[in-house]
Amino acid sequence: MMKNKEKIESLFKEIIELLEDSSGINSFDESMVDTPERVTKMWGNELLKGYHMHPQELIKLFPNTSKNPEEIEIGNIPFYSMCEHHMMPFFGRMTIKYIPGNFVLGLSKIPRVVEAYARRFQLQERLGQQIADAIVKYGKARSVEVIIEAEHTCMTARGIQSIGSITKTKSTSFATK
Ligand SMILES: [Zn+2]
Repeated sequence: MMKNKEKIESLFKEIIELLEDSSGINSFDESMVDTPERVTKMWGNELLKGYHMHPQELIKLFPNTSKNPEEIEIGNIPFYSMCEHHMMPFFGRMTIKYIPGNFVLGLSKIPRVVEAYARRFQLQERLGQQIADAIVKYGKARSVEVIIEAEHTCMTARGIQSIGSITKTKSTSFATK
């Protein structure tokens, strides 16, 4: 599935060696021999697998028989993503609220749509916007609001003062007609 697997593995190995070398320590021994392969696999098969997922194929639509324009809210959806600035995970929960048009979304597919966009290099704001736009475009919703609360490890792993801090964003999208 992953292109250039061997090349990426050898580059990870080189990065580790160069980072350690610059500090005068080199612990790239037996215990780390399989690390480049493990990391490559984890990035390709897990952390960045969203590049191989297609949201338009994941969304399932059902006729909105109630013709009721009231809001539908799906809350507490967990996600994991990768900050594109630091290549460190950010993770949390999101709430998706939408006003349906002639269709409602199959609920079981929503976490897969979230995963398709989250498992890429991302920004929290863009993640929310892409999900909102996809539900308007492919889910034929009238309007969508995506609220994300996330912990960014690029922030919290660096300072004791930041542990537990949460970033909250809200993204909206509206059908044009
Ligand atoms: Zn970051």
